[in-house]
Amino acid sequence: MRVLFIGGPGAGKGTQSARMADFFGLTHLSSGDLLRKHVAEGTPLGQRVKDFMDRGDLVPDQIVMDMLRKPVLAASKTGGYILDGFPRTAEQAAAAYLVASELGVEVQVAVHLRVDDRVLVERLMGRGRGADDNDRTVIEHRIEVYNKQTTPLVEYYAVREELITIDGGRSVDEVSWDLVSALQSRSVALAARAAQPS
Ligand code: AMP
Repeated sequence: MRVLFIGGPGAGKGTQSARMADFFGLTHLSSGDLLRKHVAEGTPLGQRVKDFMDRGDLVPDQIVMDMLRKPVLAASKTGGYILDGFPRTAEQAAAAYLVASELGVEVQVAVHLRVDDRVLVERLMGRGRGADDNDRTVIEHRIEVYNKQTTPLVEYYAVREELITIDGGRSVDEVSWDLVSALQSRSVALAARAAQPS
């Protein structure tokens, strides 16, 4: 199964996508984690993206697309993937679809973890990142970037009938239970569709 997660900063995307990847035997691919690793290691890619990330802005599309191509292909050959943090814009989604559909590795399920902005701010401040005004400004900017650039993706996948919406405002375990059952039924439906004679 090939899945992606959409959710604001602090929505629980990282935690839940890692849990679901474990549960369903899928490869967890987090664009944010991969980018942070490049920054920490000081690679040329890391040096190009650091300032964007520090400000809470998105990094250029092409960098993320190039970085993910190989891991997505590899994961698709071994049971599937959960993409966490990609795509982030409708443009990334459309560009990725063009490349992936030719190779038969396009997304089948989009999960939207819905959480109120107010709760997102509380959670992020609670992580200790909101200690000073600068942190607070970056947190608010990241939420603004999410609302402006990423939420149009929800509609994009709803129109394609690939969307599952989950209330992410509850406890981690409650959200996981809901996700397991929603993804399980989607996986059964996908298997049934694949088994139909064409
Ligand atoms: P995340 O851990 O998913 O919140 O990502 C952390 C940061 O990495 C974001 O604030 C962006 O600067 C960058 N990033 C992650 N994924 C993408 C993406 N698909 N497109 C552009 N920038 C991204």
